[in-house]
Amino acid sequence: ALFVVTIDGPAASGKSTVARRVARRIGATFLDTGAMYRAVTFAAMQDAVDWSDEAQLVGVVERHAFAFEADDDTMRVFVDGVDVTDGIRDPDLTANVRHVAASPPMRARLVEMQRQFARRFGRVVTEGRDQGTVAFPDADVKFYLVADATERARRRKADLEAQGVAADLDELRRAIEARDRSDESRAVGPLKPAADAICVDTTRLTVDEVVEQLLNRINA
Ligand code: C5P
Repeated sequence: ALFVVTIDGPAASGKSTVARRVARRIGATFLDTGAMYRAVTFAAMQDAVDWSDEAQLVGVVERHAFAFEADDDTMRVFVDGVDVTDGIRDPDLTANVRHVAASPPMRARLVEMQRQFARRFGRVVTEGRDQGTVAFPDADVKFYLVADATERARRRKADLEAQGVAADLDELRRAIEARDRSDESRAVGPLKPAADAICVDTTRLTVDEVVEQLLNRINA
C-alpha cells in the first residue's frame, strides 16, 4: 500500500529542506513537485513556446521525455536524458514557471506524473502547492507550512549567499510575494491548505524544530 506525506506551502517556506529530511528519517522517497514544473518549463523554453498558446505548451510534454530519479535525498531531473537538476533553479526559468502552473491540462499531466512516482516508490514525502488538496487527497498525513514573507526572503538570501550569489532582500521579498499572489489566485490547483492539513508556522522555528514537529505528528 502507498504511504504518502504531503507538505504544501508558499515559495521559500522551507518545504523542500524539511521534506527531504523527513523523508530520510522515515525511510521514504522525496518528491519535489516544483522540480517537475521546472522541468517542463525548461523544455518549453528550449522550444521557445508562445506561453499564450496552450496547445503548443501542452505539446511540450509529448515532444520531450521527462524522468525523475531518487538519488539519496535529492530528486534528480532529466529532460531528454540530460540531467537538468541544477539548471532548473535559474531565476529566469523560475519567473516563467507560472505559465506552466496556470495551465489546467498541464497541471493534470503533472499530477499524473506525481501519482506515478508515488506508485513507483510506494513510500513518499511529497512537497508542493496542491499535494494534499489535488494530487493525494487521501494522503496519510498532510502538512501546510507558512512563514512571513520577510523571513522567507531572509532565508532565500542566506541560501544564495552560501552559493556565493549576492542578493537584495527587498527584491527577493517582492519576487516571493509576486509568486504567492500567482500561486493563490490560479483557478485550478491554487495554493491553499487541505481541510485536514496540519498547519505549521515556521517563522520562528529552526529547520530541526520543524522536522521534529512533523515527525511527531507522523508517528502520532
Ligand atoms: O517549489 P518551487 O519553487 O520549485 O516551485 C516552482 C513553481 O512551480 C511554484 O512557484 C508554483 O507556481 C509551481 N508549482 C505548482 N504546483 C506544485 C509545485 C510547484 O504550481 N505542486
